[in-house]
Amino acid sequence: MDVFERARHYERVVFAQDEAAGLRTIVAIHSTRLGPALGGCRIQPYASEDEALEDVLRLAESMTWKAAAAGLDLGGGKAVIIADPARDKTEALLRAFARVIESLDGRYITSVDVGSNVDDLDEMRRETDYVVGVSPAYGGSGDPSPITAAGVASAIRSCVYQTFGDATVAGRRIVIQGAGKVGYHLAGLLAHEGAEVIVADPNLDAVARAVSDFGVETTAAGSVLESECDVLAPCALGGVINEETIPRLKCRIVCGSANNQLGTITDGDALRRAEILYAPDFIVNAGGLISVADELVGWNHDRVMARVDKIGRTLLDIFHLAHVENVSTAEAAVEHAKRRMATLAALNR
Ligand code: NAD
Repeated sequence: MDVFERARHYERVVFAQDEAAGLRTIVAIHSTRLGPALGGCRIQPYASEDEALEDVLRLAESMTWKAAAAGLDLGGGKAVIIADPARDKTEALLRAFARVIESLDGRYITSVDVGSNVDDLDEMRRETDYVVGVSPAYGGSGDPSPITAAGVASAIRSCVYQTFGDATVAGRRIVIQGAGKVGYHLAGLLAHEGAEVIVADPNLDAVARAVSDFGVETTAAGSVLESECDVLAPCALGGVINEETIPRLKCRIVCGSANNQLGTITDGDALRRAEILYAPDFIVNAGGLISVADELVGWNHDRVMARVDKIGRTLLDIFHLAHVENVSTAEAAVEHAKRRMATLAALNR
């Protein structure tokens, strides 16, 4: 494995372990050009070290673009712990990880991701100040999912405007894949605005909760991607939009919270050819990052929501850029972020 070559565009990649605590972690700092690198800690029993490295590099880079496009003074980074969260997550493991973060002197700030939760962050907080998304008891903002959902709703309104010339979602058929923390709140917001909301989730309790709280419809999780609809909102897994699934889509718009929805960036071109408007995931789901990042300056709900409301506006700028540059919206989103970084770099000189 040629680690230096793979990490060529990264400022720093740190490998650390603590045998007694069972810790094996990789922290990737992609960029601190706009500020400290912020990104969650993923705890997963990766099949190999190679897979863990691949994941942390990919996730750290996308955090750079997400923070830059969201207008934050933050860079991109991510951490992975190679462990099974259900079995291996101990106080010692979390605190040993937090000590690694502390040793980076604020270049990287950690938060929640797959396999970690608010309680884990509170544990880490005992060893380091460089953690956000902690519980309100520690001065944090708690679960950001309702705020992420508000950002997705703002993004969907912009997509509907771009496609149909009118931003109202009332009467639009919107299918949500995943009725978890984000999907549930999104279903509520859209149903409240009069959209025809359909949810799909293999977890039938999650489906039942959305049905009983918001009166939404349901469809089978196994065939959700083929649902005929105006908007398909992937709010579960990554990689669901790929060369195998794109020919089967029957939607006009793909706009949801899931990270890394495209199999590869070229799937953005395939969506364009299929005349399906793709709202780049890292623009759409920035609400969570915006919220936890606000803890760094003393979390304020109104300030957070004002920034989250701008997600729809940013998307319209990206659609315009994609049109002018004749590229996919996925490429335009990265370009949009890079332009902000370049402008600010010029300012510093
Ligand atoms: P979650 O774990 O609470 O919910 C995910 C839901 O998807 C679960 O209910 C699960 O049963 C369901 N699911 C799994 N496989 C499915 C399938 N094949 N079809 C339909 N549903 C399926 O997670 P979440 O916090 O709601 O996050 C959803 C997505 O949004 C993730 O990709 C996450 O990385 C991303 N995201 C979340 C936030 C946030 O604030 N929570 C912020 C940014 C991005």
